[in-house]
Amino acid sequence: MRANLDHRDRSDALVLFGITGDLAYKKLFPALHDLERDQDLDFPVIGVARSDWTVEVLRERAEKSMREEVEDLDEEAMRTVIDRLEYVQGDYNDPATFERLNELLQDCSRPMAYLAIPPSLFDEVVEGLDMIGANERGGGVVVEKPFGRDLKSAEELDKLLQATFDEDLIYRIDHFLGKETVLDVMLFRLANPVLDTLLHRHHVDHIQITMAEDFGIDGRGGFYDSVGAMRDVVQNHLLQVMALILAEPPVSDDPEALRDEKSKVLRALRPVRPEDMVRGQYEGYLEVDQIPADSTTETFVSLVAKVDTWRWSGVPIHIRAGKAMDETRTEIAVVFQRPPLALYRGEGMDSPPPNTLRFRIKPAERIDLGIQLKKPGEEIATESVLMTYRWDDRQGRHTEAYARLLGDALLGDRTLFARSDSVLAAWKAVQPLLDDPGPVYHYEQGQPGPDEAKRVAPPGGWLAPLHE
Ligand code: NDP
Repeated sequence: MRANLDHRDRSDALVLFGITGDLAYKKLFPALHDLERDQDLDFPVIGVARSDWTVEVLRERAEKSMREEVEDLDEEAMRTVIDRLEYVQGDYNDPATFERLNELLQDCSRPMAYLAIPPSLFDEVVEGLDMIGANERGGGVVVEKPFGRDLKSAEELDKLLQATFDEDLIYRIDHFLGKETVLDVMLFRLANPVLDTLLHRHHVDHIQITMAEDFGIDGRGGFYDSVGAMRDVVQNHLLQVMALILAEPPVSDDPEALRDEKSKVLRALRPVRPEDMVRGQYEGYLEVDQIPADSTTETFVSLVAKVDTWRWSGVPIHIRAGKAMDETRTEIAVVFQRPPLALYRGEGMDSPPPNTLRFRIKPAERIDLGIQLKKPGEEIATESVLMTYRWDDRQGRHTEAYARLLGDALLGDRTLFARSDSVLAAWKAVQPLLDDPGPVYHYEQGQPGPDEAKRVAPPGGWLAPLHE
């Protein structure tokens, strides 16, 4: 879905705060490459950071990033991106940095600012952007996660941004929402109304959302310990994805229409009770570099959420995320109700297992509808069969999430960005868990979390991974 946009909304410059940092290296230069190759950027990209670099050093780093991180590099696109780069060296605390930036922006009427910087610096940068009239120019601001670390700090950050920018110029980026398979959840539902009809409390028993990783946090200790699984992926990525699968169809392709529906879901999300959550920490976490010996940060969390909308009331939403688990899998699974009467035997059981609809985002992207068919042979019993669609089967190149989202922001399309009310509603729902996190249970690396997590697991347990 691409909203109808007025081309006057298009940005005519990109200002990248944090251009010398890790995110720019890993994601933003590659995204610029893809945008140049596919859409022709046609405007300057101005980096602002503290390092005492020349523009030549910046260009070398950009080239190294694109050579390393882009899978199918287009030399011409890479060269064009490099040529478009400009650099403003300076501290964000120094107004002169913004004066120099402003000079470079003289010929631009709608510059877009991208804050790829630690949140502790937002204050200074937003103030500097205010000084150069960024809001009046209408180009907007892209804000990276984390959007606060609890409800109060998110509200404060919102206040800070909204004191300078109109809400419709604030692009809160959650790269999960730009992934092709996450977009497919939306398109699958809205372009196939016959299937969407099934996504309803009349048919669904429960929903499972998993983000499991079979690796730990080596190398990211300092960062990870200050957030934990709940803040790192549940409050943002997984609740946003949940909102996509539960939202009512929007009334139009206006960016606000989908955001309205997602917001309704998150506002209907009941604050999660501490007894509906279990936290875990993998054994060996405390030995990781930069982790305090007495850290109780969770590397695993499992919870049950309830969404009180007309469509979903009473349907449990099970969510879990963890590091150093027994597998790497990101998946949304809808588990349907069983037949009202067990007329047939299922494989090894008295009645057939429930139908399932699974959207797998990672590792290989696929969609599976789990159904029952007659088991071949004399016996009148069912066997489980999958109707599978694999992304690999389709020709064509994926658009990388950062390229899509950055491109959308530059075009002025807010559809895939999180709106203030959604973000705050998601914080509100998890705030009781931050206030009363309860104990953290230990689990061996390579296990699906601590045993205690069975208490909040789905009825019948978590679905086993699908093998290729
Ligand atoms: P880095 O620490 O690698 O980069 C920080 C950037 O800010 C550098 O360019 C640095 O410039 C600049 N900077 C810091 N202080 C100042 C200052 N006082 N004046 C001017 N420039 C300054 O951070 P990341 O790139 O890892 O992360 C940036 C943001 O993106 C964070 O909010 C993070 O949470 C988020 N994010 C990062 C991800 C990642 O994969 N890295 C993934 C998702 C979100 P210099 O080095 O020149 O001093």
